Amino acid sequence: MAAILELYKRAQAVGGIELCHFVFPACANDKVDPTKPQTTWRTAWRRLTRAVQCPMCGQLQNPAKTCCNENCGADIHEVKSSLAGLRFHDLRHHAITELAESQASDQTIMSIAGHVSPKMLAHYSHVRLDAKRRALDALRSMGSARGLWHKQRHKSGCRAEAESAGD
Ligand SMILES: [Zn+2]
Repeated sequence: MAAILELYKRAQAVGGIELCHFVFPACANDKVDPTKPQTTWRTAWRRLTRAVQCPMCGQLQNPAKTCCNENCGADIHEVKSSLAGLRFHDLRHHAITELAESQASDQTIMSIAGHVSPKMLAHYSHVRLDAKRRALDALRSMGSARGLWHKQRHKSGCRAEAESAGD
């Protein structure tokens, strides 16, 4: 809701509050045209993934030599964005990988993600196999601990049997 209110405030600021105006209006050379839709958000994505946070005052800003906060002015030329290099498509890839790791079937993945190429599906099958392998490895290490426990119990059980047989 806060995001919608913010969008509405921005629309008001550029005079784009008519019903026929676009929520994401075209913007070229810093000129907003609410009667045309935004055609690309490449610049917005770039700015988002390159934005850095000043370690002194916390201000989120474009990369620069010094912090843009007048009261701070810290040296931020070596501060890098944790999102640097993140492509929008990586979000989809990550979501599908998480699904594959959760053992979702190919059919479930494809119904959520839409088209997935056979090559990518093979990749996610590999991810799923790795997840299964890790689960089995965890089971094996748990099993060896249990096996030890079982052996101990068996030994003490035999001792108890031997002791009771001795009575
Ligand atoms: Zn700062």
